[in-house]
Amino acid sequence: PRTIMAAGNWKMNQGVPKQAEKLIGDLQAELKGEENSEVVLGVPFTALAKALDTVAGTDIRIAAQNCHFADKGAYTGEVSPEWLARMGVKYVILGHSERREYFAETDETVNQKIKACRHWGLRPILCCGETLAEREAQQTFTKIGHQIKAALAGVPESDLHFLTVAYEPIWAIGTGKTATDAQAEEVCAFIRDEVAKLYSRETADNLRILYGGSVNAANAAGLFGQKDIDGGLVGGASLKAADFAVIAKSA
Ligand code: 13P
Repeated sequence: PRTIMAAGNWKMNQGVPKQAEKLIGDLQAELKGEENSEVVLGVPFTALAKALDTVAGTDIRIAAQNCHFADKGAYTGEVSPEWLARMGVKYVILGHSERREYFAETDETVNQKIKACRHWGLRPILCCGETLAEREAQQTFTKIGHQIKAALAGVPESDLHFLTVAYEPIWAIGTGKTATDAQAEEVCAFIRDEVAKLYSRETADNLRILYGGSVNAANAAGLFGQKDIDGGLVGGASLKAADFAVIAKSA
């Protein structure tokens, strides 16, 4: 019942509107509408309007890479979830490890942002993942279990329907060191079980869980073929139209 998602996270790249338009155009030319997955592109704020125009009338959806939890106010430099919703953005990536590491994002702010996104009808893509040190210390499940529970505190079961979780081991991000199919599957299955405990088996079975961390054209099919992996959150390879098209067809 779960549809595969190929989500690109452009990070701080291609943020001039014309650059975004070009990359999306190249991707559409490569896809030729033959993608087997829901394609979502996480573009920089500065290129959101152009990206939305470029994909209008197609099945490609646009994501923001962050938002604030307030609707408006004295938060210099921040972006309101209300604005994103009203301009046509569908998804918001939240709690990415780069935001946690460099921008003081915490489980608490991620939780507030998830609630704000749901208030405005946006679909959060909640990121979680362990460091290499945590993995080596056998802390992976403890860390991920805590991140999931804290991010979802007070989030009603009806909102889980609109949530996607992305498991992104930090040691695999931008390193070319992809988790093996089995390593990724083990943690994604664990996340599903945690959600079953917090909510219900049915809600957990319907939850889309992505793997992220050095996904590329060669390894996507193996990862997406795992029982509890429903697609990928892709950084570097999403900036190459030909590679991302292969990933989107890997479902
Ligand atoms: P890479 O695909 O470049 O490893 O990045 C993964 C990621 O952080 C996606 O959010």
